Amino acid sequence: MTSTANKLQSYAVGEWHTSSASGVVLNSAIDGVAVAEISSTGLDFKDMVSFARNVGNPALAKYTFHQRALMLKELGAYLMERKELFYECSKATGATRSDSWVDIEGGIGTLFAMSSKARIEMPNSQVFIDGSQERLSRNGTFTGQHVYTPLRGVAIQINAFNFPCWGMLEKFAPSFIAGVPSIVKPGSQTAFLTELMVKHIIESGILPPGSLQLICGSTGDLLDHLTYEDVVSFTGSATTGLMLKQHPVVMRENTRYVMEADSLNCSILGTDVEPGSVEFDLYIKEIVREMTGKAGQKCTAIRRAIVPASKIDAVAEALSAKLSKITVGNPDNETVRMGALAGLQQRADVLSAVDKLRENSELIFGDPSTVDVVDGNSDLGAFMSPIVMLSNSSKDAAAHDIEAFGPVSTLIPYSDNEDAIALAARGRGSLVGSLITNDKDNAREIALGIAPHHGRLVIINQACAKESTGHGSPLPQMIHGGPGRAGGGEELGGVRGIKHFMQRTALQGSPDMLTAITDYYMQGASRNTDTIHPFKKRFEEIEVGDTVISETREITVEDIEQFAALSGDVFYAHMDEEAAKRNPFFDGRVAHGYLLIAAAAGLFVWPGEGPCLANTGLENLSFQKPVYPGDTIQVQFTCKQKKDRLTEVWGEVRWDTTIVNQNGEVCANYDVLTGVANVEK
Ligand code: NAP
Repeated sequence: MTSTANKLQSYAVGEWHTSSASGVVLNSAIDGVAVAEISSTGLDFKDMVSFARNVGNPALAKYTFHQRALMLKELGAYLMERKELFYECSKATGATRSDSWVDIEGGIGTLFAMSSKARIEMPNSQVFIDGSQERLSRNGTFTGQHVYTPLRGVAIQINAFNFPCWGMLEKFAPSFIAGVPSIVKPGSQTAFLTELMVKHIIESGILPPGSLQLICGSTGDLLDHLTYEDVVSFTGSATTGLMLKQHPVVMRENTRYVMEADSLNCSILGTDVEPGSVEFDLYIKEIVREMTGKAGQKCTAIRRAIVPASKIDAVAEALSAKLSKITVGNPDNETVRMGALAGLQQRADVLSAVDKLRENSELIFGDPSTVDVVDGNSDLGAFMSPIVMLSNSSKDAAAHDIEAFGPVSTLIPYSDNEDAIALAARGRGSLVGSLITNDKDNAREIALGIAPHHGRLVIINQACAKESTGHGSPLPQMIHGGPGRAGGGEELGGVRGIKHFMQRTALQGSPDMLTAITDYYMQGASRNTDTIHPFKKRFEEIEVGDTVISETREITVEDIEQFAALSGDVFYAHMDEEAAKRNPFFDGRVAHGYLLIAAAAGLFVWPGEGPCLANTGLENLSFQKPVYPGDTIQVQFTCKQKKDRLTEVWGEVRWDTTIVNQNGEVCANYDVLTGVANVEK
């Protein structure tokens, strides 16, 4: 069939490419009008991979984590200014304004959130330190440190049709910060919106060359060109996901494969919740929201509502009452609460899944064959009624297995908590589960029982309901993914998501070597004491390893008494010799730990006005040996790490701080954080 619809373009090897062949026609979900045509015929996938590897990767490698994160922030602002263009285009996907908000502004918000997380939690460098230094030898000359470095390959991001913007951005943000270029392949049905957004991303000129390529249409032989350095991030159905996971090249090369697949998410109503209570209403509201948002085309939607058997009638009644008020139709009409499915094929798939569910379940709300449509026609648009089923047999397998990817939920009765946990587990691994209860014992028993089957768990009661982001919203700070059927993958989760595009390596060697490689001071490495006091140095002048070895100071009984009087801390171990002796930790009156910290500051600071601006924190404090009156302390204060803050006139310097006694024994160890000016003030 020939069409006059807009031919979607792919962005490959730094250029926009239009397929010469005719493609598949994509129709508006609302009225069936052709909106675009899609085909990737003519793309050279091998060239795309080489371009990402040979141009994108080196271009990204010129920047640090912070620099890339700042580019993402700039990109987010650029896209946000143009958001109305995306909202307009999104209408043809069947989405209402609030559905599109999740996709468009939620997606752009992910750029901001990941950018901010990276700048707070990652160093402004190319190496990310993982965990603490490991002591591997008796004398400390051989040591270990886990580090992450960016992969040198390409991230292939294959997305589902339901979130054409968010789906792309939630994968692109972490791979970009890690320094890995992306080749994005959106679900065809809604690829016109992804294409529009990529056009604006490229037009912004913010991204280094090769960071982002787009395939509209089939991926051809793309996966044949992958190696162990690449990542495939797949979101979609379990069937497609498994097929791609078994691609011979992916298997042979051990290419990383992250899969987010379909999921029979459950929401459990606690046995404590009575009809008419706040939590009961919250439960009904949550199910309605999950069924109707995106017309139920959310991988995180509630497919199984697990309800105490004694309350199933009340839930069915309340749910039906609420759903009967949902207006279905053209999202342009302000009264419409639920739009259309993404296309007629998607609706046909959902209705076929409903038929299968009905073999064991009773239809208690909605009519699969007809729906009242506001400003639309259900022959042309992919509208359908919300559908609620009641599973009437504990042997019903379909409710735990068949995903109707639309506005469909099944009520499943349970007898007690053990039964509810067992039913939840029958989903064989889910992205998200929720529990609505106001009873802490119920919450603990069920949450710990179902957590191993879930990637995310939301416990909702009146205390958090107002601010809760709800059952179905993945958040950039929290992991998204789930075990088993949900794909076994993990995305987002703050910096965790960035690590998926990096290699973790156990570095072993001498402390000096590891310090030189990581720019992170390893205990036992050489210290530079032959320097002016580092508090007199500007940020750029301080070097990792710069050290102050302080004067010594004797801690006296008077010090302890004065500190007790000043601070009000008159804990008996500091004040009463006999009582302190009865304490298994001490041999007698002991100095306050905070007295030592304060005295240490008195020993290491240089008091004059200078580049050191403020003490911004103190981390990892441990007291290792008591200090008694008459002991003498000394401080070793060494620059451990520098974190340039690109948007500020100061940078953060982390100092390894060790307090030793007269025998050289470590009494306390901690990191002092300081803000240090990086320009003349
Ligand atoms: P799908 O049919 O599995 O398609 C997913 C993606 O894979 C699409 O981009 C699709 O492209 C592509 N694809 C299909 N066959 C391929 C092949 N042989 N080689 C390379 N790519 C191929 O899923 P969908 O219908 O788009 O999405 C709905 C499903 O996704 C639901 O089951 C839902 O639960 C799941 N989902 C999961 C999550 C999650 O985070 N876990 C999120 C959203 C959706 P085409 O569109 O061109 O076929």
